[in-house]
Amino acid sequence: MPDKISKLHRSWLMSRVRGRDTKPERIARSLLHHFGYRFTVNGPKNKTLPGKPDIVLPARKTVIFVHGCFWHRHPGCKHATTPKSNQEYWQAKFRRNVERDLENETKLVAAGWRVVTLWECELKDPEKAAARLIVELPRIPSLEPPEELEDHQLVAETQAVYGKKRKPRNSR
Ligand SMILES: [Zn+2]
Repeated sequence: MPDKISKLHRSWLMSRVRGRDTKPERIARSLLHHFGYRFTVNGPKNKTLPGKPDIVLPARKTVIFVHGCFWHRHPGCKHATTPKSNQEYWQAKFRRNVERDLENETKLVAAGWRVVTLWECELKDPEKAAARLIVELPRIPSLEPPEELEDHQLVAETQAVYGKKRKPRNSR
């Protein structure tokens, strides 16, 4: 999927995060905003739903957790290290975190919510994060490219990625 994101789209994404405060949650918000989703970060549901989700898309009954790879144990991630000393302590702590995450997700899913977890390391690569969101979230609301990128090629590629127009792509 990532290779289907056009160069223009990619440079737009990068321009959004380069030289800015690139906190993972901020990148997630920026991407969602770009895609045209409506969401809350400080709404009542952000405070009351299990696990206090970082981002809530109420209309789509979707929550997004932005998780640190270390504390939430991103499987297979190089950032999910275990400190050398006090290993038992750390392992117990990590286990609790993972269990709690799972419990929250189970409750949310049981209540009809779609749960998306974005990992900190993914958000350091906005292109990757964008690709995840395209896969995880139902239908991108806005297929319009941002104004400064008005470009037929971008529109066509965006539609190809988002599946609105399933035109066969030219084989190279
Ligand atoms: Zn990670």
